[in-house]
Amino acid sequence: MISLPSGVPLSLYLHIPFCTTCCSYCAFYSEPYAAWKGFQDAYTERLLAEIVQCTASERVYDTIFVGGGNPGSLSPDQLARLLQAAQRNGKSREVTIEMNPETFGEHFFPLFSQGLVNRMSMGIQSMDDQLLSRLGRNASRSDNIKALKLAQQARKEFGIELNFDLMVCLPGQTLEMAINDIHEVLSISDANHISLYCLTVEEGTELARQVGMHTVQVLDEDGQATMLKGIWKELANLGFSHYEVSNFCKEEKYCQHNLRYWNLSSYLGLGSSAASTLENEQAWYHYTQIQDLRQFSDKAPFSGYEKEELSLVQSIEEYLMMALRTRWGIDKQLLQDRYSLCFETAFAKMVETLDPQWYFDTQYTFSLTEIGFLLLDEILLRFVMQLPEPLDRHTPL
Ligand code: SF4
Repeated sequence: MISLPSGVPLSLYLHIPFCTTCCSYCAFYSEPYAAWKGFQDAYTERLLAEIVQCTASERVYDTIFVGGGNPGSLSPDQLARLLQAAQRNGKSREVTIEMNPETFGEHFFPLFSQGLVNRMSMGIQSMDDQLLSRLGRNASRSDNIKALKLAQQARKEFGIELNFDLMVCLPGQTLEMAINDIHEVLSISDANHISLYCLTVEEGTELARQVGMHTVQVLDEDGQATMLKGIWKELANLGFSHYEVSNFCKEEKYCQHNLRYWNLSSYLGLGSSAASTLENEQAWYHYTQIQDLRQFSDKAPFSGYEKEELSLVQSIEEYLMMALRTRWGIDKQLLQDRYSLCFETAFAKMVETLDPQWYFDTQYTFSLTEIGFLLLDEILLRFVMQLPEPLDRHTPL
């Protein structure tokens, strides 16, 4: 059993590592259909047993996120059982489910009508058949259109919030094509949240192999920056506020679950390869689950988790990494209260070496501008270099 903090709000993440096929760029843990066919029942039962044990009589999760993989690989009934168990003491204020367009259908509507889910996040990625096929996506343009219409229907009928994931800086994609994708998605739905991901080449993926063989060419950093700036400008024109490096919303419809990650609030992650970050008595812990859905499905609840206590420096690093991603940035008072670290003492000298176009520095916060977002890794490194070396401690659960 994972030791959960008491008396602090907790979020819950459920990982469903089942996909139809493997996308060429994907480095997440997921298994294609042939590998997981027949495991859904056992996987659901194990997940359910863990949810029940973690959901003590008084616990109401602040937010819940069911992600993957593709949660649409489970049946609506299996998903309903998981979400009912997680909300048996009361409804969470935000419950998001990820859905892939090719498996989404009206048969999932009972999750919305029963109030088990109030937000859906759909991986559209592109509206161009050629690009979709290059990415190894299983959905076509017509699948995406159909799913967008259905999602909008669900929004109208049940009042759910919608997010669509789009990918940019794809090989062969122009700025105009990327902007057209956004327009088309917003012409079908009135989604007020968009996640916009820049294609990255992750080691070990099919895309990395193709790039290594020179059969696919990706944009260099300058090309990416030019495209991103053009798209960000268009999203601003459309009324979307850029509140995190990859996330945009209207009417302050932030993803509350992700805000908790970025703020380093405690969250519990269950399922094969899921991770948790929990604060317990002023110490920070990571729990991670082995990436093997067969072992997860076959073994007893809570086996296979590894526990790591984060050193103070690791926790600070993690906070800086998350906070700099958001438009609110580093909260100087929080840094002082949570880590006894004075921002000015630790970082003011280094900040003087940064280009003033990269950041906003006030008495209370330090945050990045959009130009700064483009240089996030470099700026983060400069912050981290001001900290002492982190300790590394692993303890098996
Ligand atoms: S559907 Fe998502 S999780 Fe599955 S392979 Fe594609 S990108 Fe990865």
